[in-house]
Amino acid sequence: MKRIVAASLLVAAGLWGSRTALALDAPRKIVDYDIKVSLDPEKKLLDGRETLKWTNPASVPVGELKFHLYWNAFRNNRSTFFRESGGQLRRDRADLANGWGYIDVTSMAWDGQDLTAGFRFESPDDGNPEDRTVLSVSLPRPVAPDETISLDISWKAKAPRVFARSGYVRDFFFVGQWFPKIGVLEPAGLRRRTDAGWNCHQYHANSEFYADWGDYRVEITLPEKFVVGSAGALVSETKADGKKTLTYVQSRIHDFAWTADPRYVVKESLFDPAKDVPKEEIERASKILGRTPEELMRGFRPVKLLFYMQPDHLSQWTRYEDAQKWALAWFGLWAFPYPYAQVSVIDPPEDGLGAAGMEYQTLYTAGTFKWLGRWPLTGIREQEMVCIHEFGHGYWYGLLASNEFEESWMDEGINSFTEAVMMDRRYRYIAQFPFGVGITDENSKRAIVSAPDFDPIVTKAWQYSTGDSYGRNSYPRAAETLEQIRRLAGEERFWRSFRRYAERWRFDHPTSEDFLEEMRTLGLQNFEPFVRKTFYGTGELDFRVLRAVSERRDPMTGYDDAGKPVAFEPGKKKKEPKKKDDTRPYESVVVVGRQGELPIPVDVLLRFENGASWRTTWDGTTKWLRLRTTYASRLSQVVLDPDGKVVFDRDPFNNVKNVGKVHGPSAAAKVRAYAMHLVEIALSSVWSLP
Ligand SMILES: [Zn+2]
Repeated sequence: MKRIVAASLLVAAGLWGSRTALALDAPRKIVDYDIKVSLDPEKKLLDGRETLKWTNPASVPVGELKFHLYWNAFRNNRSTFFRESGGQLRRDRADLANGWGYIDVTSMAWDGQDLTAGFRFESPDDGNPEDRTVLSVSLPRPVAPDETISLDISWKAKAPRVFARSGYVRDFFFVGQWFPKIGVLEPAGLRRRTDAGWNCHQYHANSEFYADWGDYRVEITLPEKFVVGSAGALVSETKADGKKTLTYVQSRIHDFAWTADPRYVVKESLFDPAKDVPKEEIERASKILGRTPEELMRGFRPVKLLFYMQPDHLSQWTRYEDAQKWALAWFGLWAFPYPYAQVSVIDPPEDGLGAAGMEYQTLYTAGTFKWLGRWPLTGIREQEMVCIHEFGHGYWYGLLASNEFEESWMDEGINSFTEAVMMDRRYRYIAQFPFGVGITDENSKRAIVSAPDFDPIVTKAWQYSTGDSYGRNSYPRAAETLEQIRRLAGEERFWRSFRRYAERWRFDHPTSEDFLEEMRTLGLQNFEPFVRKTFYGTGELDFRVLRAVSERRDPMTGYDDAGKPVAFEPGKKKKEPKKKDDTRPYESVVVVGRQGELPIPVDVLLRFENGASWRTTWDGTTKWLRLRTTYASRLSQVVLDPDGKVVFDRDPFNNVKNVGKVHGPSAAAKVRAYAMHLVEIALSSVWSLP
């Protein structure tokens, strides 16, 4: 433990010392939490005190404060969380017999003045009078603009039995969203709002979180036998009476979680940019982004990696390590280098998987099963995928702190997109079977866009029609929309924009429109209608070949304007030329159609029997397009979207029509493509949220 302390102080000092060299914008500091908490593992109780310094960021005085009391979601079956989830989340179920939890603020004082008389529970989202997840506190006098106040808060909380991220099972504890946390007072201009006001939503079944930037110092007291993983760096450890007190600090974050389990085995590693950023990825990024390798590598720093493993998963820790190092390398190149000194990867027990696969700042929970460590199941890259996904959130929820209540796609969707790109680059398949058969991450997501939709991507998390719709729109539909933009824009233009977005909005709170504003600079055809039908609508799309014929074209025959017969003798049967000396050209007619409302430009390829081909781009603004051509050879095949640029095409199998002899894709390739399509359809019915 001592060794860890020394190392983290060293790395932390290195980071702060070189802050200007990193050229990172610092966030505006709004909160400063100094928390002291003790855990009673038998009773599952937390006893906490916090000093919260809060600065009013608005240009207007503020007469009341709002707090999240997230654990009251688990207080009883009347909470909004329970009403919406039915006590079930991400395939895990609440223990209704004795799994309840709560958080009670027992005192709150401002400069010694008691504020509890001003307490009132509110339900801004659904008016549920029995929800206790938002506490409003009216103040004896308003907080002036830019004034910093200091509050002393005490609270008691009981951990729920874990099924939705936080809680315990046996003596494993995952402690997230656990302390009285002030909501976000958004000043005018932040997230494009016109007037200042609180943004403090209730805890919903389908929503995550949103908070202000600041510094944390957290002191955790618990029995000595526990191994603790936490956000931030450990700066001190003291022991007394069989208990220990651990102190962690972290600046420039907006969330703080920790975990404790006597069974954790801690593995330590170091991300060393000189060794762990693959040369070929640097070259690739340098070429596509138009920046020199030196420029790209400049902000990289070593990052300490800690893996908190369950003993029965110990042999699998290096798989986490590999994925984690790759994710640090990829994000550093394509977004910007990771600015914190450490990452903690938490491996929850198999009976506590309700805590698995969840992001926090500088810490996340992954998750695996013992049986996934055995051949041939090692071909299932679930472990790597979860790692890359959850660490990715460290960027899209962590460093670009979007409002996950209101715009969940900005976190889950952008993150699912980068996850697929990273999985593809590093591992190729998320599930690989014998004989070279595998499913890519993108394939598994693409299956989802073929399902019918009832909500726009941009919808408040608790306002989607169903939990399924939240899942589909926040994750794969949003991810595939980005993939669509990428394919239309091409690698260079897309990734330069993407990186500009990431750099501009780090340590800030971007909105959907901030992202789209950057994408608008790509100048894509029909982009506005596309945005209206995807981000703000429920558009679907199926391109198909409606008709394709190709026949010999006769020279003109009949009566001319003067009424004289041309090229025929009235009363005599016309003589067909012999097949082999027939040199008449072919007239080919092709009709392609678009079902659905997405006006995406698409390529149309005509292949001819003599091997020639001809290609055009249909702008996709009309419902159908007719092509007519006269050419020496017979049309053999029509292919819509030959390069597979249209991600949203619901059924790619009606994109091809054979007319004559085809030299194109072999029968085996067609069978493989069809098998993949069946896999996609199957996946769309079993797909679940990571
Ligand atoms: Zn996620």
